Amino acid sequence: MQYWDPRIEDLPKEAIQRMQYKLLKNLVCRLYSFSSFYHDRMKEQHVHPDDIRELSDVQKLPFMFKRDLRDNYPNKIFTASEEELVRYHVSSGTTGKPTVVGYTQNDINTWSTSIARGLTSIGLGRGDVIQVSYGYGLFTGGLGMHYGAERIGATVLPTSVGNTERQIELMQDLGVTAIACTPSYLLHIGEVAEKMGVDIKKDTKLRAGILGAEPWTDKMRNRIENWLGIKAYDIYGTSELSGPMFTDCSEQTGAHIWADIALMEIVDPKTGESLEPGEKGELTITMLQKEALPMVRYRIGDISIIDDEVCACGRAHPRIKRIQGRVDDMLIIRGINVFPSQIEHTLMSIPQVGRHFQIVVERKGALDDMLVRVELTKESFSDKISDLMQIRQSVEHRLRNALNVAVDVELVEPGSLPRFEGKSKKVIDKRSL
Ligand SMILES: [Zn+2]
Repeated sequence: MQYWDPRIEDLPKEAIQRMQYKLLKNLVCRLYSFSSFYHDRMKEQHVHPDDIRELSDVQKLPFMFKRDLRDNYPNKIFTASEEELVRYHVSSGTTGKPTVVGYTQNDINTWSTSIARGLTSIGLGRGDVIQVSYGYGLFTGGLGMHYGAERIGATVLPTSVGNTERQIELMQDLGVTAIACTPSYLLHIGEVAEKMGVDIKKDTKLRAGILGAEPWTDKMRNRIENWLGIKAYDIYGTSELSGPMFTDCSEQTGAHIWADIALMEIVDPKTGESLEPGEKGELTITMLQKEALPMVRYRIGDISIIDDEVCACGRAHPRIKRIQGRVDDMLIIRGINVFPSQIEHTLMSIPQVGRHFQIVVERKGALDDMLVRVELTKESFSDKISDLMQIRQSVEHRLRNALNVAVDVELVEPGSLPRFEGKSKKVIDKRSL
């Protein structure tokens, strides 16, 4: 097993928790003394730094939400001065004002250290060529991965998104061994390669994908790995935490949340009540070392589960299970909660179904109607109406069983649904238009 930071990565659980408590206590004291935002929030909640006597006392602290960043646009709650900042990233909110995240030099170093540990844990390092096909710019994906990959001594190919044929040529010519992008974009790259007559398995040295920025499932992982002959690893993060930060290790059983960098909790998304490891809820994070924008008990909005058992790789840093969706991605269909990831999970376990689908929700009269458009594989796309009818019925049946709600299925030709270079838009909710 390879380590980037053995002294930290190899700590036993008790030592990790002691370290987290110290970091939390320091953070709370610093914020209470030097930031009017955190000071006022803590006063409102009647909590003082002296009340933080053990790690679980984090639960006494008030939550933060995305609206706190929007309301304090652009930098009113930064805890570093403008001269100390070395970078800004800006995320375009789907509604309202964008959010601005500032970074000191130490913040950039912590971010790249976090990624360096993850990349090392999946066996990447010097001699690897890592193609970064996340967007470069205000979005955190491109530059975040770039700095992490350079940190481990790998060679970075900063292709960003788009111009897919050229990306595939460069992948071949420069001996790319790993690619970082959204799972949707890797699917697109795979299809474009097929059209160009390039077999990723045989004609390239690609052996790893570091995939994130949108929820995806283990079933999709299996598909990608078998099709392209690579190992596919999840990477987790969001701009408010810095950007992409935490990856699967070689065991592929969830992204390790480095405990010296972040304190992750799970809470009930409705009540805010703390939940135990193993229970499903909303990820809530405290960035323990961040200087410019610490984020204390920040409600990320992603639904997952914390696994705090020691990993088979030997690391005791907790892992998060696959993101099942965002609180605000959850569709409510006739009163039933449905996550697009449940639909992906079901579809990807049906062999006749291809890799692409689209969900359309509309209201017909008083009722919600969900239509799932499903691409078939080339092999199963047949002209015989009776065959197609049978497949459609079977897909509808499987989805109804998995979701507990009736779903209409439309089978479509391979290659007919839209493809995406960045985050995919799999859901069209006409009820909100
Ligand atoms: Zn592990």
